[in-house]
Amino acid sequence: MGFAQVGAMVQLKNMGLFKTQGLINGEWANALDNRTLAVNNPATGDVLANVPFMGKIDAEKAIAAASVAFLPWSKRTAFDRCKLLRKWFDLILENKDDLAKLITLENGKPLTEANGEVVYGGGFVEYYAEEGKRVFGDIIPSPFPTKRMLVMKQAVGVVGAITPWNFPLAMITRKVAPALAAGCTIVLKPAELTPLTALAAAELAVQAGIPSGVLNVVMGDAVEIGAAMMDSNEVRKITFTGSTHVGKLLMAAASKTVKKISLELGGNAPLIIFNDADIEIAVQGALYGKYRNAGQTCVCVNRILVQDGIYDKFSEAFTKAVQKLRVGHGLDPGVTQGPLINEASLKKVEAHVQDAVSKGAKVLVGGKRHSLGGTFYQPTVLCGCNDEMLIFREEVFGPVAPLMRFQTDEEAIKMANDTEYGLAAYAYTENIEHGWRIAEALDYGMVGLNETLISSEVAPFGGTKQSGLGREGSNYGIDEYLELKYLCLGNIKQPFMC
Ligand code: NAP
Repeated sequence: MGFAQVGAMVQLKNMGLFKTQGLINGEWANALDNRTLAVNNPATGDVLANVPFMGKIDAEKAIAAASVAFLPWSKRTAFDRCKLLRKWFDLILENKDDLAKLITLENGKPLTEANGEVVYGGGFVEYYAEEGKRVFGDIIPSPFPTKRMLVMKQAVGVVGAITPWNFPLAMITRKVAPALAAGCTIVLKPAELTPLTALAAAELAVQAGIPSGVLNVVMGDAVEIGAAMMDSNEVRKITFTGSTHVGKLLMAAASKTVKKISLELGGNAPLIIFNDADIEIAVQGALYGKYRNAGQTCVCVNRILVQDGIYDKFSEAFTKAVQKLRVGHGLDPGVTQGPLINEASLKKVEAHVQDAVSKGAKVLVGGKRHSLGGTFYQPTVLCGCNDEMLIFREEVFGPVAPLMRFQTDEEAIKMANDTEYGLAAYAYTENIEHGWRIAEALDYGMVGLNETLISSEVAPFGGTKQSGLGREGSNYGIDEYLELKYLCLGNIKQPFMC
């Protein structure tokens, strides 16, 4: 396909946001060896753009730029930095339609969800444009009459950030905004499947006046770029969102230079529906929690555990609701579920469904590739699932809801916690005391009670066990980009007695 045709696939109000090069030290750049990478629309297979396929040397240049930019940026006042972040936020909102369109084009999610992501993603920039001014230190009561003890917080240094394709904007702003607010500079490597939103967001950061070298974007060879970050002594912090498998590789590699590291990894979220739940509310919660982004979010419901007394009613009402979902191209009005990101994801979903059916599950709705072809899959509900099935153990990352029956609270908690993951869990009950005890017993970083849409820039996002380390968002999120420095003032003379 010729370049003119490729570019023509992306029609934005502001074509200045259609960037197809990396950003190093304020300059839009190709890969050193001019290699490129095609970015596809998962709904059509069309090539949207060719972007640079960068490697080790490009990453090292970006790290060097971030390193030079670090001192001047970190020495600015927080108020100065936050003014620029606020400007970036304003530009993100001004260009909301274009950013949402880019997200839908390269990720496939319905436009309404993409719009929601721009608001959510922009929210982190607004939040840290405010929170950056509130990085307080401490004065510790000293046990010694001649010493004073203080704690200050300082930017950790150059940050390496690696992000996934399922939230092409929000996973970026959730890292970049607190890092820049804290005074860090950053080298960002977005997912190879969705770099266009990242580049548009970077262009808006440039327009907002974020100085050269403070935010750099490189994409291409993940292993080489990752290794350049991990091997560098200049990069003092790694922040990663993606699979547990890659997170573990990065955690091991971070030990070489003992970097600060935060990891937002995979999940296996249970949704528990108790006999005392409101069925209508639970059905809505299950629908949003399972099928948004075609089931491709780390906090998507992976297993639905339903108590015996409500199981039949719930499965009937839920199946009816799932039958109403509309699958299609994310830009078409009324579509509620787009395609899966690629063929590998589709094959994983098929394998999970086949495995479950071969072990006794029944398909209540869906269970096959969608007639639209490509990577579209039918919204699916399976009943009669159990802990022998792959779908109980692994993230399905697709639009498949397995229903499992339980009798007692203890059984539900045991099933819910029986996983190496600990990201998000959900429970539905109309009894607050019951819900409180359940929430305490769930071994997860986040719990939604009568709610499956829990993510917000004001709340700490993150998991326990193999779902990761550290938290993003909220007042806690900025700590990931700060070091504590203890200062002891000695030889203070006797206090004035007047
Ligand atoms: P992934 O394969 O781990 O990729 C994530 C990022 O890591 C991409 O930018 C990828 O680059 C890069 N990468 C891959 N191999 C690497 C290596 N050896 N060294 C350095 N970087 C490497 O995950 P994904 O399939 O994109 O995303 C889905 C996963 O992310 C799911 O498990 C989901 O649960 C998790 N997730 C977690 C959260 C959370 O907050 N906990 C949020 C969203 C998603 P390329 O794209 O260039 O290959």
